[in-house]
Amino acid sequence: MNVQIPTLPNAELRVPQSLHRLVDLAYNMWWAWHAEGRDLWVQIDPVGWEKYHNPIDLLAGIDPAQWRIIEQIEEVHERYQAAVKELDHYMSGRETWFDRRGVQMPGPVAYLCTEFGVHNSLPFYSGGLGVLAGDHTKSATDLGIPLVAVGLLYRNGYFRQEVGMDGHQQHIYPTLDMRHLPVRPVSGGAGQLKVPIEFPDREVYAAVWKLDVGRVPLLLLDTDLPENDAADRPITHQLYVAGREMRFCQELVLGVGAVRALRALGIKPSVWHVNEGHAAMSLLERAALHTTSGVDLATARESIRAETLFTLHTPVPAGNEVFDGSVARKYLGPWAQRLGVDLDGVLSLASTDGNDLSRFDLGALAIRFASIVNGVSQRHGEIVSEDWRGLIGHDAEAVTNGVHTPTWIGRAGAQILVRNLGRSWPTRLLENPSLLDNASSVSAETIWHAHQSRKEIFVRFARERLRRQMARHGAAPDDLRSVEDLLPADRLTLGFARRFATYKRATLMFSDWDRLASVLKDPERPVQVVFAGKAHPADQHGQAFIRQIMELSRSPEFRGHVHFLEDYDARIARFMVQGADVWVNNPRPPMEASGTSGMKASINGTLNLSVLDGWWIEAFNGKNGWAFGAPDRNDDWGAADHHDATAFYDVLAGEVAPLYYDRNTAGIPEGWVEYMRESIKSTLVAFSSHRMLTDYCEKGYFPLGAG
Ligand SMILES: *Cc1c(COP(=O)(O)O)cnc(C)c1O
Repeated sequence: MNVQIPTLPNAELRVPQSLHRLVDLAYNMWWAWHAEGRDLWVQIDPVGWEKYHNPIDLLAGIDPAQWRIIEQIEEVHERYQAAVKELDHYMSGRETWFDRRGVQMPGPVAYLCTEFGVHNSLPFYSGGLGVLAGDHTKSATDLGIPLVAVGLLYRNGYFRQEVGMDGHQQHIYPTLDMRHLPVRPVSGGAGQLKVPIEFPDREVYAAVWKLDVGRVPLLLLDTDLPENDAADRPITHQLYVAGREMRFCQELVLGVGAVRALRALGIKPSVWHVNEGHAAMSLLERAALHTTSGVDLATARESIRAETLFTLHTPVPAGNEVFDGSVARKYLGPWAQRLGVDLDGVLSLASTDGNDLSRFDLGALAIRFASIVNGVSQRHGEIVSEDWRGLIGHDAEAVTNGVHTPTWIGRAGAQILVRNLGRSWPTRLLENPSLLDNASSVSAETIWHAHQSRKEIFVRFARERLRRQMARHGAAPDDLRSVEDLLPADRLTLGFARRFATYKRATLMFSDWDRLASVLKDPERPVQVVFAGKAHPADQHGQAFIRQIMELSRSPEFRGHVHFLEDYDARIARFMVQGADVWVNNPRPPMEASGTSGMKASINGTLNLSVLDGWWIEAFNGKNGWAFGAPDRNDDWGAADHHDATAFYDVLAGEVAPLYYDRNTAGIPEGWVEYMRESIKSTLVAFSSHRMLTDYCEKGYFPLGAG
């Protein structure tokens, strides 16, 4: 059951008649996780691919003379035929997990989120939440789950990061050219569908675009329209816009616009999944639709609760999206009226404790309107229960996050799986995880060489990036040449990359310089660390972390052993989680609700060296990586940091490095490879988004949707 949404053409892409289906291939993100798709783009124009990573840019950049040459290449036609065949087969959607499960749902799941990380060419995400939402849509389509996603189209995306020589983070906002995005205008009335939203003394329109993620439509709302006042057009320009009132406007557009867009399209969701509080104002709009048809607010709330699931991703109530009550008062008059209450009445729906009307807490609002509330790891589920039991009325559920394994696994690993289990390995493994037991027949050599080949790719990529960064900083030719000697691939390499939020403690390992330097510069067992990550433009602490790491990377103590790659995104993430030997994570417990980059590393056999928090509490088994530090909350931050840093040095020098450098006569670290094997085995299914989606189905979508 696919959700059908009519669209209008976007830009006209000119391609030769013999390759006309390239347009279909370019306008469906299916290629992003199918090798047949990516191989085709590389075959058509390797230079254009390297430059854009976006098929539409690539196709638009080819002139007729070039096409005549490309059309002569036999491999192009072979790969084209293969990709078209696979896409058509995929889109026909036969024999999916959902079909086999045999559950009837009258309407689809509506999945609302403020960020979506589907591919790095679409900068509509900032970090883990967005990538998770992207992985959610991909697993939904792979498993045949009827789902329609709704988010915002940020024409200035999230910022690109440049870091100056002094470590200062610069924010560069791209201006996206709509004609070069794989989105199409959704048709409605005379042209593109536009939904109106009441603002004080005016209406703001949100245009609706559609991105195809396999069979799942992702609708994106956009206020940058000529119909809107110049002051309203930027509402959806920047993801996580810093101004609080503007952020409120953005989330009003997301919540209300999502409900109205689906209604305008005649889509009647059976289940609404509000993914994090940003989309919670959808609940006011849904409630108002009930109350204006004659029922009272309490009854409306019960009907809505019966169809709504809310996922919290924040570890502490303070992390929720909370606005000053006065902002909500300024905008929510029309909803108060339709709900038949006064403004205090609306504000009380979003009050954390039911009394305090000075704060408008979107998490509290969503909890009041959801019958199922879940945290994103087992531990986080417990924390949500403790924090919110009063409001939820019972325990929260826990659905542990997962990653879309076809997106995140390296090519060499995927090839091994295809050889052993066939192309449908992700669903086969989901339905029969014991198939992985055969993995022990894959030799240590095969596993190690697959890893080394990915590491070489990562190291080459990182050197190129470092050279570009240094050139911008004005480095001399000899310095730029010496980049080739950086990051030797035979050296134990740690990766640390994620948003530079303060609780993630990016600089923890620099607590004791002498100790760290002695570990990294051990002549027998040297270690190098590669960092990457952006700090939110308003986060001064996070930006100070970046400055500190940049300074240290150029200091005599750490030069050559510590590196910072700028402009972290999903592409760099892929290189790093596949190419590092060890993935470091040291959040301040219990602040990491789940964490997902460690899962991406783990499924590739990149071993986690992590504090026991979030997902790692569930995944760590003593043979698939390492745990260090104290797992419990400690409000004496200085003492906690000192304790955890010391534990980090001890485990790294005492266990990790010795195991890595212990080689057999063929140069293979057999003990290490056993850890890699265990890492892959213990996480490839358990921490996949396929498993996560089946959990959401069994615990949420099916019980709600059938009811
Ligand atoms: C996976 C991912 C994240 C999440 O990383 P955590 O370690 O879970 O915080 C953030 N950003 C990008 C680009 C990712 O791919």
